[in-house]
Formats: sequence, C-alpha cells, structure tokens
Amino acid sequence: MDSPLRNDVVTPFGPGGWGSLGADGSRRSADVAVVGAGISGLVAAERIAATGRSVVVLEARADRVGGRLESAEHNGLVVDLGGACIGAAHTRTRALLDDLGIGMWRAHSGGVRLTANDSHGWGGTARLRRRAVRLDIQRAERRLAALTDAIVPATPWTAPDAARLDERSLGSWADAVTHSARSRATLRSILTNVLCAEPDSVSLLHALFYLRAGGGLAPMIRKDGGAQQDLVVGGSQSLATALAARLGDSVVLGAPVSRIVQERGRVRVESDAVVVDAASAIVAVPPALGSRISYEPSLPAERDRLVRRMRIGDAIKAVVIYDDAFWRHDGMNGEAWGTTLPFSFTHDVSQTDGSPGVMAAFFVGPRATAARLLAPPARRQLVLDGLERSFGPQGAHPIGYMERDWSAEEWSRGGYGTVMPPGVWTRWGTALREPVGLIHWAGTETASEHHGYIEGAVQAGQRAAAEILQTREHKTAVA
Ligand code: FAD
Repeated sequence: MDSPLRNDVVTPFGPGGWGSLGADGSRRSADVAVVGAGISGLVAAERIAATGRSVVVLEARADRVGGRLESAEHNGLVVDLGGACIGAAHTRTRALLDDLGIGMWRAHSGGVRLTANDSHGWGGTARLRRRAVRLDIQRAERRLAALTDAIVPATPWTAPDAARLDERSLGSWADAVTHSARSRATLRSILTNVLCAEPDSVSLLHALFYLRAGGGLAPMIRKDGGAQQDLVVGGSQSLATALAARLGDSVVLGAPVSRIVQERGRVRVESDAVVVDAASAIVAVPPALGSRISYEPSLPAERDRLVRRMRIGDAIKAVVIYDDAFWRHDGMNGEAWGTTLPFSFTHDVSQTDGSPGVMAAFFVGPRATAARLLAPPARRQLVLDGLERSFGPQGAHPIGYMERDWSAEEWSRGGYGTVMPPGVWTRWGTALREPVGLIHWAGTETASEHHGYIEGAVQAGQRAAAEILQTREHKTAVA
C-alpha cells in the first residue's frame, strides 16, 4: 500500500507543552491516543472520533494497517494470509462491514470432509475403530458443553469450582475423558486446532471460557451457521483500510510505541516517529507485545503477572492457488484435518464458482513450531505433499503459493488464540480489562465474546471506547 495514511503533520502541544519529541520532532496532542491499528484499535478510534473528540492512532508497522488481518494479491486475486472468516454470530463485524459497504461471500461447504487419523482406512476393523472414536469424541464434546454452560465469559473466575478447573490442564482432562489412545489423539488434535495451542499448555477453565465466548465447539468449527461461514470480498484487511481511511491523518504508520508515561493527569505515548500527549490512551495490541512497552509509573503487579503468562497461539498459514477447486469435482469440501497429515487443517477459501481454486492450509500449535524449523521451500513441499495426499495428484501443481508465519512477525508474534496456562485466570484474570489510570485495554485478547476472533477485536474496541467516553476526562470534553 502506498502511504496516504502516513502523518507528517505536526500538531504542537498546547501552551506549556511538555514531554519528549519523536526522533523526527513530531508531537501531537489529542483527546485519546490509540496504540495499534489492528481492527480493534481502529474500531475504538473511529468510535471516539465519531463523537467529535480528537484521536491519534500509533501503528508500529510502517507499510500497512490491519495487524493480523493481511490481504495479499496474486495476479489480481486477493487472498487472506491472516484472519479471514466472518461467523454467522459475528454480529458486530457484520454490522461494521455493512456500514463500510464491504460485501461477503459464503464459504464453500458442500461435500465431504477428509479426516486422516490412524483410525482411518478401509475395511471392517477400521470402520469399527472409526465408530468407536467418533462415539468417544461425541461423549467428550457433550461433557465439555455441560461444563461450558456454567461459565460467565466476562468473569470466568466466578465459575463454580473455578479454582479446580483452572488448576487442571485441558490436556489432562481430555486424556481422562477418552477411552482409547486413538480418541485421545483425535480430541487433542481438535482442541489444538480450535485453541491454536497444545492442550497441555491451556487451563481447562480457559478452554471452557474460550468455547463459551465463541458460542460452543461445534459452531466454532462449522461453516454454515458457524464461525467459518463467510469470507470478505476484497479481503478482510479492507475492513481496517476502510476504517483507517475514515480516520485520515489521525493514523500514524511506522510508530512503534516504546513508552507510556502517566504524569500530571495526562498520558504521553512515545514512539520514535511521534509523541502524543493525550487525556487517555487505549492499548490495542496483543498482550505479549503490550508487555514489551515500558510504563511509567510501572503497571500493577497483577497486570504484569497476567500478561507475562498469557501465551499467544502459534500459527503459520499457507494459501495455495490452483486453476480451479478440483477437490469439489470429487465431492470433497476442501476440509482436511487429522493426526496423520503434515498440517493441522485446510479450508476451501475459493470464490463461489471455484475458479481459481484457493486452499488455506494451517500449521497451528506444536505443528507450527515444527514447521518453522524447515526452510521455506521444504515447508512449501510439505504443504503440497499433504494436499496431494488429501485431494489427489492435482494438489502437487499449484499456480501460486503464499504463506505467513505469524509468530515470526515482529508486531504480531502469534496467531489467533491467546491462552491462559493453568492457574492464571483465577489468580490475575481480574486485571485483564481493568484500566490502569488513564490507560484502557483493547484487542481481541481482552474480549469476553468471540475472544480471539475478529468479532472479539471489534467488541473489545467498542468496549474500550465506551469506557473512555464514560470517564470524567471525556464526559464533558465535547459540547
Ligand atoms: P492485531 O490485529 O494484532 O492488531 C494489533 C496492532 O498493533 C497491529 O497492527 C500491530 O502492528 C500493532 N502493534 C503491536 N505492537 C505495537 C506497538 N508497540 N506500537 C504500535 N503498534 C503496535 N479471526 C476470525 O474471526 N476469523 C478467522 O478466520 C481468523 N483466522 C485467523 C487466521 C490466522 C492465521 C490468524 C493469525 C488470525 C486469525 N483470526 C481469525 C484472528 C483475527 O485475525 C484476530 O483476532 C484479529 O485480527 C485481532 O485484531 P486486534 O486488533 O485485536 O489485534
């Protein structure tokens, strides 16, 4: 993107201005400074700007807005390298798309899903094994759903038995409720794909919260009526670029925030490119990155302990382009997953007519960690081998290939799920959204609904903006 959003305008502080200068001397003042031009920060900024208050958004990346929403082009075809699907229940995002005049199309769902576990294969014994695994998984899912019902997503630490649920790992629970090594491996693989993290690293309470916030396991993995239902025309990043265009020169690219100082009833947000003096700030970055900013005065111990323990999921997404969606001709829906495939799962993300065919293949959790060790050509080959094995010889002959390793991205450092390891929610969870003085927190990791999704990022941005507009500093700021 060429950079119409780069802000070169210097707005001096008011009389008696204070604070340091950005390296290029830029100083601005605003009612609210927002850190991060992901969808969450942009939604918050737009809400605040719509009330007539001034806002400056500082974005670390020099070339684009959108954060984990990144769309790329291949011969005129736009594909999504990060977040892509909009769920049926993602009402805020759907309203936002509507408001921005951006369309969606229905992700292809017709056909058979391929499951490649070692319980699969042909013949009577394999069929019996498959049935036993399926029944075992269904039982486990019902138990999970029953536990999930008791969780209030805004305050998971208030669940009956919260301490016990939080001390236990999701992995140990999964092992205890399944009856064979095969169903154990299958359940673990489903949970890893949904949470973007290995079940042993996740507190059971966190998993219950995540599933509750997302509407339940089945809707979270489903296309029709579920979280994977629709795709965004022109790519999901267009949501962010359209919001940024509305905000104009309020968005400053290439401005990684390194320090936030609260002093004399104001907050100073510092980056090398610009220093912003504001009445309030919203930090809308993944917690792991928020904890790399230095704060003066330092953050309360609870907040620091919380964010240092939150673990962002590991994800690599490959997008593979073919002349057409050849798997559809064989009655396959393009979804493949299982313990014996090299990647974690795939999705058909082609347009409705399947021409060209576009396949997204994900490595998540430990598989992302392992795939990262390969050189890019070897990883590409691994993806193509897996697609060939799953969908036939044409899988080996794409016309385009792109990938994004989200953990390697300096300003993301991870994928779609941030998890709480055992013991974190009940000890420090109350600090997740609690403002610290003039600083408020946004980002999908602070969402109580559809946590980890685009919808969660939108909800969190709207909540942080509403919080700020209720504060003493802002209630009377605009006539
Ligand atoms: P981010 O998008 O991470 O935005 C944070 C912003 O802050 C970034 O722009 C970053 O550059 C900036 N930043 C970081 N540090 C600093 C700093 N110090 N100073 C200034 N700026 C800083 N969600 C769905 O709903 N559907 C999906 O299908 C889906 N699939 C996904 C697939 C993948 C591979 C990934 C990675 C994510 C997926 N997600 C999906 C999740 C979705 O993309 C995210 O939930 C959402 O984009 C998060 O938005 P955010 O604004 O909270 O955070």
